[in-house]
Amino acid sequence: MESAENCSVKVAVHIRPLIGDERVQGCKECVTVTPGKPQVQIGTHSFTFDNVYGSGGSPSSAMFEECVAPLVDGLFQGYNATVLAYGQTGSGKTYTMGTSFKDGCQTGLIPQVMNALFNKIETLKHQTEFQLHVSFIEILKEEVRDLLDTVSVSKSVAANGHGKVAIPGRPSIQIRESSNGVITLAGSTEVAVSTLQEMAACLEQGSLTRATGSTNMNNQSSRSHAIFTITLEQMRRLHPVSPVNDTPDEDMGEEYICAKLHLVDLAGSERAKRTGSDGVRLKEGIHINRGLLALGNVISALGDEKKRKEGVHVPYRDSKLTRLLQDSLGGNSKTVMIACISPADINAEETLNTLKYANRAR
Ligand code: ADP
Ligand code: MG
Repeated sequence: MESAENCSVKVAVHIRPLIGDERVQGCKECVTVTPGKPQVQIGTHSFTFDNVYGSGGSPSSAMFEECVAPLVDGLFQGYNATVLAYGQTGSGKTYTMGTSFKDGCQTGLIPQVMNALFNKIETLKHQTEFQLHVSFIEILKEEVRDLLDTVSVSKSVAANGHGKVAIPGRPSIQIRESSNGVITLAGSTEVAVSTLQEMAACLEQGSLTRATGSTNMNNQSSRSHAIFTITLEQMRRLHPVSPVNDTPDEDMGEEYICAKLHLVDLAGSERAKRTGSDGVRLKEGIHINRGLLALGNVISALGDEKKRKEGVHVPYRDSKLTRLLQDSLGGNSKTVMIACISPADINAEETLNTLKYANRAR
């Protein structure tokens, strides 16, 4: 039997309960779960994943323990990781990730990651020095923007003054790849944090920035990818005399480890709605599809062991999203995709699309 532990991509499904709107409309549930199995049925289709959560009960702590806690542990061993929430708008991505402070803020995955991280640091800090940084960005229309840049408004006004194109609110950021394959974001805010409260404040500030943008940019948050990244640096003091090294070297006394965890609230996976006659919406839809399309291709290439052994090209460069995540998807990194779905019959078509996309990732 294939062990999920050995596979670098794990796929879980999170089925939310029917929500107010759907109940009012008299929606019926059209998704069923095989009791005791991670198997989901919709119509005549049946899909098996690594894990299935919901509907009802309190699944989020189990989801965290089974899917995400191993990634937090991996960070301490130097493994990069990515958690992705995929699904149509309204399917529960933000709720699942805990990216927004509006609801589910205590049960979402990001707050649970923070708790686990600081608990673990507490138990290790007598032997290891830790440095934590967070960044919070969003990708909209293939533009990377900083959600933690508090002086961004004045900067973008300045950029305009020099004739550059600036999107109101936040300036653009460049994705860079170093010679050893490490991806960095040039120009993004990296906040040094040393407490849970400081890290939570960054999440809150970025969520607010994102929400503020969405009111005057036509529900932007459903069309952008939001990426909250935690970088953990460790300086571990080794035993003073190393048995494998008889040359006395000051540097031999310490081990440096750096790894990052990306927590991604993806853009809504629904097809671009061709509403409005100005064409703006359509363009945005196409760009978002580019990120999600590239992600699907990358993940399916990574999940296919046969292809991987043949050294098949992994198309990271096809979108900003996959370029940014390049050093944290595949290789030694661990990836968890959580496909979020609504159980309502009115969403059956999009739910089926989501399950098909997630199924490709396995
Ligand atoms: P998305 O980010 O995919 O657009 P949201 O996370 O905003 O979706 O969820 C849409 C609505 O459904 C919100 O009102 C949210 O509170 C609710 N919701 C989502 N998931 C759950 C859940 N597991 N349990 C209860 N309510 C949920
Ligand atoms: Mg959302």
